[in-house]
Amino acid sequence: MPAARPPAAEAPGRYIPATFTGPATGPADASPAKVEDMGGIILEGVLFVALLATVATLLFYALVRWTPLGLRFRQVANRRKIEDTLELDCPIHGPQREEEMVRLPSGSRICPTCYKEALHE
Ligand SMILES: [Zn+2]
Repeated sequence: MPAARPPAAEAPGRYIPATFTGPATGPADASPAKVEDMGGIILEGVLFVALLATVATLLFYALVRWTPLGLRFRQVANRRKIEDTLELDCPIHGPQREEEMVRLPSGSRICPTCYKEALHE
């Protein structure tokens, strides 16, 4: 088949892309270099995403650590934590485990012992 290629390739005015190497150098020759290029491109993409994640994390840390907005976030988190522990603390039966709490149809939570007592009355 090589006899058929040169007249077509050397025909005047015919466009041949620069990457076209002809049928003689098939996928067996081009594939190792291509695979290396793809590996480099993928590695570059992964590193770029890692860089973006690092920068975003540092910005978020600086925002939360050293700005009034961060102080506000931490205060809100403290309030939620205290409210959650208070919700788990029954005034009659003391602290309860979160998994054992009973959620009423209204959405509020009640201690299991109080719920049993309420059911038996
Ligand atoms: Zn209770």
